[in-house]
Amino acid sequence: MIKATKALNIVLGQVCSLGLETLPVSAALGRVLAKNIYSDVNIPPFNRSAMDGFAINSKDPAEVFAVIEDIPAGKVPGKTIKSGECARIMTGAMLPKGADQVIRVEDSIKEPANKVKMRRSVAGRKNVAQRGEDVKKGELVLRSGTLIRPQEVAMLATVGKTNVKVVRLPKVGVISTGSELVEPIFKPTTGQIRNSNGPMLIAQLQRLGIEANYLGIAKDNIKATKAMVAQGLRENDILILSGGVSVGDYDFVKEVLQDCGVKIIFNKVAIKPGKPTVFGTKRNKLIFGLPGNPVSVLVVFELFVAPAISKMIGKESPEAFISLPLITDHSCKSSKREQYQPVLIKQGGVQPIDFHGSAHMFALTKANAIMRIKSGTNELKKGTIIDVRPI
Ligand code: AMP
Ligand code: MG
Repeated sequence: MIKATKALNIVLGQVCSLGLETLPVSAALGRVLAKNIYSDVNIPPFNRSAMDGFAINSKDPAEVFAVIEDIPAGKVPGKTIKSGECARIMTGAMLPKGADQVIRVEDSIKEPANKVKMRRSVAGRKNVAQRGEDVKKGELVLRSGTLIRPQEVAMLATVGKTNVKVVRLPKVGVISTGSELVEPIFKPTTGQIRNSNGPMLIAQLQRLGIEANYLGIAKDNIKATKAMVAQGLRENDILILSGGVSVGDYDFVKEVLQDCGVKIIFNKVAIKPGKPTVFGTKRNKLIFGLPGNPVSVLVVFELFVAPAISKMIGKESPEAFISLPLITDHSCKSSKREQYQPVLIKQGGVQPIDFHGSAHMFALTKANAIMRIKSGTNELKKGTIIDVRPI
């Protein structure tokens, strides 16, 4: 049995990156940049007014100024500001020659004959954004490995990138195993339950921007499981199975994977839930056999599958645990394994949730994170700093 950190390192060590593809920025939300992006312009590109007001020379001692030009945004000023002169200027417009300051409209009084009196006492602020003060032409603005969010889309637009190179997404197959399972549209008959792991895994993948290839439910027999696994391996870069990895008489997944040419790298991890997790490879393909209990599926996916996918798609900073204080005492049954339990992160810290073990799916719907409890812990005091990971 290996520790979770070792298991994660093994998994990440097996990740091969996929090829690149070019996408229009409009289709690249949630993807990861595969190349550095440099700016082709200064931002702002010219000295720009940050206010509606009057452009003057800050050293001009005058109080009353003659308005010599109107400069709306987008107009190139035609005149140079001299002593006693100003230009009426709008936010975003280019400062005229000779001017280095904008007095706000609110700080001016209209005088006859197209003149304005300025309240110079408020003139501490220049109200001008200098050329290149945000970004210099040629500067690195977005690193390879950056997740594209709306703000990155804006940055790409600003520097004129309409197409971007991103890492191709992996094809991911999902198989549920279990002769007791029926798909959710059916009413389970005696001895049956609905397949919830399949839809959950599809949703977990969707959250990472991946459209899963769902293969269906494999009955607990070698022949049926093998046919589905073989197809899953042919068509995908990653194959995820749930159930059938424990030591029961009808748990065939590990055997079937081996029959299909998968090299098993580990099949036990010191975590609770999730102990019988199986991980293997076939050429560049990654194969995960998750224990069937729903909480195990969610936890093991978040601990190992999600980081593998993040690395595969080139994400620079994958999902990480954060440290927060517990807001109540928490007692738990001590285990030799590291434990993961559902919690609620709220104002002030982490609130544990009533949790009955790996089949207690319902507890997850009340949680927004999982917490990690070190092996051998049976009591956690209020204020203890613990590792949590939003889910
Ligand atoms: P297994 O790992 O196959 O022994 O399954 C462990 C437990 O999880 C059993 O109670 C199964 O009925 C349940 N289980 C397995 N697969 C699923 C699934 N796809 N959806 C819901 N529960 C499942
Ligand atoms: Mg089963």
